[in-house]
Amino acid sequence: MKHPKIGWIGLGKMGIPMVQNLINATFPVIVYNRNKAKAAAFLAEGVEMAESPATLLDTTDVVILMIADDQAVKDVFNGEAGLFSSSASGKIIINMSTVSPAISKEMAALCVQKGNQYIDAPVSGSVKQATDGSLVIMAGGAQTAFESVKPIFDTLGKLALHIGENGIGNSAKLAINTLLGFHAQGLAEAVVFAQNQGVKTNDLMELINNSALGNVFMKIKGEAILNDQYQAAFALKHIAKDLRLAKAEGLNSPLADTLFNSFQQAETDLGEEDIIAIIKKVK
Ligand code: NAP
Repeated sequence: MKHPKIGWIGLGKMGIPMVQNLINATFPVIVYNRNKAKAAAFLAEGVEMAESPATLLDTTDVVILMIADDQAVKDVFNGEAGLFSSSASGKIIINMSTVSPAISKEMAALCVQKGNQYIDAPVSGSVKQATDGSLVIMAGGAQTAFESVKPIFDTLGKLALHIGENGIGNSAKLAINTLLGFHAQGLAEAVVFAQNQGVKTNDLMELINNSALGNVFMKIKGEAILNDQYQAAFALKHIAKDLRLAKAEGLNSPLADTLFNSFQQAETDLGEEDIIAIIKKVK
């Protein structure tokens, strides 16, 4: 499938730049978003918008979801005019959202009953990588289905790895986001400790970024701290959700328990801010 017709569901922070990359690569794309106002910029570019997930599935070859969480997935599949109300078959549905392995396995089995295939393909990387087309994609599902949509993954990311059956992409993603949580909490605690010792944050960040611990995350989040700018690239509510999903899958170790509690407690106050806003709770 070189240039299949793509139906895209979810025009959030990640979905918008990902759709733009597909359009730039000349894939035909039709979009759907629950809040229709978010499609305005695409409509202005002449992109078509579907009335519902069901009509999107009817009129495209591959449907991709990039939506918030398990509840959103349930709504998009099972809701009124949801994907399961379409009788279309022979389609591939790719779920790139960070959700539970359980919901992927459940939806995959139901897709097969309708003659469709499901791939869980969550991503590592944030808005910058979504914009650059340099996401890291981890996929679960049939190898043949994965191979047939690989050109789409190659447009959205720098690596797309098929790692097993349905749900395993979600498991890998939860492991990676646990590590992401450690990095955010760790950076916040190191910065606050250094400040308390009289080390200037810009000096600390220059040292970290030139050390073996320097990486893209440290660079971007260090800048956010320095600029006191916590507008969400990756909303804190999403890492709180991911840690709940990981815990439900059995994550139960000393650091992870502390991390889980830290982000659950921060979510009410800081859920809409960026993950690195966790520093406000460390101070
Ligand atoms: P976001 O900006 O919060 O957008 C969420 C999207 O989900 C919106 O399109 C929203 O539609 C839709 N949605 C939420 N609840 C829904 C429901 N019940 N029914 C239908 N649609 C619903 O999120 P994002 O940052 O783009 O993240 C999307 C997914 O990627 C999440 O699973 C997140 O964990 C994951 N992720 C995010 C990042 C990141 O850095 N942002 C990185 C990697 C993975 P409305 O516009 O109608 O609300």
